[in-house]
Amino acid sequence: MAASTAAAASAATTTVAGPALRHTIIAKCPVSKARVTHIHLPHYTAHTPMFMPVGTKGTMKGLTVQQLEQLDCHVILANTYHMSLKPGQQLLDDMGGLHTWMGWNRGMLTDSGGFQMVSLIDLSSVTEDGVEFTSPYNDGSRILLTPEKSIELQNSIGADIMMQLDDVVNPLCPRERIEEAMWRSIRWLDRGIKAHRNPTRQNLFPIVQGGLHPDLRRKCIDEMVKRDAPGYAIGGLSGGEDKKEFWRIVSLCTDLLPENKPRYCMGIGYALDLVVCSALGVDMFDCVFPTRTARFGNALVPWGSMSLKHSAFKDDARPIDPGCPCPTCAQYSRAYLHRIVTRETTAAHLISVHNIAYQMQLMREMRHAIIEHRFPEWTQTFCRRQYPKGNVPFWAVEALASVGIEVESTEKGYVGAGEGGADADGADADGAPVEKVDGMQE
Ligand SMILES: [Zn+2]
Repeated sequence: MAASTAAAASAATTTVAGPALRHTIIAKCPVSKARVTHIHLPHYTAHTPMFMPVGTKGTMKGLTVQQLEQLDCHVILANTYHMSLKPGQQLLDDMGGLHTWMGWNRGMLTDSGGFQMVSLIDLSSVTEDGVEFTSPYNDGSRILLTPEKSIELQNSIGADIMMQLDDVVNPLCPRERIEEAMWRSIRWLDRGIKAHRNPTRQNLFPIVQGGLHPDLRRKCIDEMVKRDAPGYAIGGLSGGEDKKEFWRIVSLCTDLLPENKPRYCMGIGYALDLVVCSALGVDMFDCVFPTRTARFGNALVPWGSMSLKHSAFKDDARPIDPGCPCPTCAQYSRAYLHRIVTRETTAAHLISVHNIAYQMQLMREMRHAIIEHRFPEWTQTFCRRQYPKGNVPFWAVEALASVGIEVESTEKGYVGAGEGGADADGADADGAPVEKVDGMQE
């Protein structure tokens, strides 16, 4: 590995993508669009493809920042919307930003606050000015989040990467509404760029909109690339659309976005989606899924997911995954976790540690495989392990074939978005039922 890493590194090209971001392409898969890059941020150099765990309210649910460091997290995501309400902007300014407040020294990305629109839609209304919310803290006050206010709050938080406020619409909305949201998001991007106070210390990423319409995505990317941002996000997906449409839009966007800048696909966290989108050329991902599903007692494993609530584990002395190097697997049995799962917060904590370790291990394996020019073979092995019965969802087979990676599947044609490694009868490889967890938001 050392030799091939050295060879890859010698071919690396570095781009100054902005005053607060340098981007080095370390290696490219000779078959697919997958790549390994280093994103040099003010607080940390992140290696991609990268998964960013999501913290809310200044903590990672169930994990300490020391654990996140030990688990090799390079960048975490914080919610601007929650942070702006509590502890609030003044306290963040007084404390010197969220890095100091929560004791995290590595990379941080903040969302604009707009994403919460989707989850709190009945509490919000959108106009050209911005988004108006009712405060969720029961004091009944109204909060207007404008593109300028979003940047002002994110400047106070001080994250390495900030996201523009965008007009969030479900990809299944009528085309007229999606087109309106796309043009509004471009106007809001310009207002955000003007309001940005720290361009030498913080990066502002635009969010590409346009729903499932290729022509709108093209127009949006045309406009946003003119703004010469340090990196770009693909937004407006994971809203219940068919996965066969989802991957085509992701692939179109990675074709059109600048090669020399980071590409971030928002709200992606299932293992199969991470692998497919990495093959399509995405560098960065985030999702609440691994920690959220942990709170429901589900552990992520190379063969899918494991519901520790199931009685099959009541006297199982093995760790969650005998091959996992995480502190939970080093110390605790499935039987122990089964005893306390969903009853004690310790269980959510221990399973969260394991699930984040799983995601980090998955991304690391992909990076090594890309650098060593064996990403297609690695992907085939991944699919065989996740789907021991061979029922790899057809959308993933199609997506991988589009970039030259052939994966065998017993699935004929499109059958729906099968997530995780659950067999058709809803049981995982250990015979325990796999619990589907719907909804990716906190
Ligand atoms: Zn583990």
